[in-house]
Amino acid sequence: MTVSVLRCGKLFDGLSDGLTGPAEILVDGDRIVEIGASVRRPPDAQTIDLSQRTVSPGFIDTHVHLTMDAAVLAQQTLASPSAKALKGLSIAREYMRYGFTTLRDMGCADPEFPTVDLRNALAVGLVEGPRLIVAAHIISASAGHGDLRGFYASRWDLPVSAIADDAGAIKALVRREHTFGSDWIKTTNTGGYFSPGDDPARVTWFDEEMNVLTATARQLGMPVAVHTGAADGCKQAIRSGARSLEHAYLIDAAALTMAKEAGVYVVPTMQMTREDLTALHAHTLPCQAVWKFTRDNEQILSSQRLIAASDVKIAYGTDCGMFPFGHGILEFQAMVAAGLTPARALKAATSVAAELLQQDDIGVLAVGKHADMVAMPGDPLADISVTAKVDFVMKSGRVYRSPASALRLRNSPTAD
Ligand SMILES: [Zn+2]
Repeated sequence: MTVSVLRCGKLFDGLSDGLTGPAEILVDGDRIVEIGASVRRPPDAQTIDLSQRTVSPGFIDTHVHLTMDAAVLAQQTLASPSAKALKGLSIAREYMRYGFTTLRDMGCADPEFPTVDLRNALAVGLVEGPRLIVAAHIISASAGHGDLRGFYASRWDLPVSAIADDAGAIKALVRREHTFGSDWIKTTNTGGYFSPGDDPARVTWFDEEMNVLTATARQLGMPVAVHTGAADGCKQAIRSGARSLEHAYLIDAAALTMAKEAGVYVVPTMQMTREDLTALHAHTLPCQAVWKFTRDNEQILSSQRLIAASDVKIAYGTDCGMFPFGHGILEFQAMVAAGLTPARALKAATSVAAELLQQDDIGVLAVGKHADMVAMPGDPLADISVTAKVDFVMKSGRVYRSPASALRLRNSPTAD
């Protein structure tokens, strides 16, 4: 077990509105065991010099798709589950270098369970990478956002979508997710932008369908995340007992009040809208998305400003996979551009995301918590863009990335 002393210039603890420090953190094995102005120096401890940096809990991205590549979705969906899991592993490891030590995968398009296999391999240390929490599939009505059959000609009935159109079939799909190891249930109750043949402004579940889905998940102890767009969709998801609203593209003030009262989290995926705007102007947005996004983009941005101005619980999520993982770190800047304070954006990616995921031993720098930490030069509260300059990443006490200047003494772990 490695023992490390981190000498930190400044600390963001995951909960506070300000930075503290200088401070030291003693890590023994996978846990933080001491934090203070100066900590014990066990004889075999390695010292890591982050005195010129701000140290934060490891970032959490609560909405990724490690096995769905929007750039080639129709073809890539046909790959084997093992091909998807291996590619997903490579992406997850690369993404961790940006500071993301925990990811929630929000669904694959595969008849089997490649993200569950990947999560299990990571959890037992068979492979190295971020911790992973998964919603295996995207349960949807026919003609809903999760019905990917529209990418193919009707003569091909490919088993790439988890679709259901009555209460019995919805229950069976939820129960199947539980049987084969999904942590979360993911569903879509409105259309989306990249999918063919649906509309984000329209609700695709009847109330009784949404309710039977959440009731079945509740019976099995599974939280529900809902891809949603139209304000009526946001309200339906909240009424039915969803734990998180994903995107909430067209949410209104009344739905935000409901979310606040019900304690529902919003994962607003704001960077994706910037990516889509760039693609729209470059004429590279897929044709099925153009009419919907052209109609809605101003309203999406105004909904994002409403979200930022509300006091609803906001968690960091990107939808990476639908755009390149290399841009996922820019969600911090998109959040601040929409009106969040830098401190709230940082909490969204640390303590609030951990709370959403019901992981009480990550997301905060405190004694007893997992030693998941990142460091960046500069002050992220003064300039949020320094989050894109993370150059030190530790997960469960192990260093995955470090500037050459930081490492001293023995046990020199992996450097850049
Ligand atoms: Zn998604």
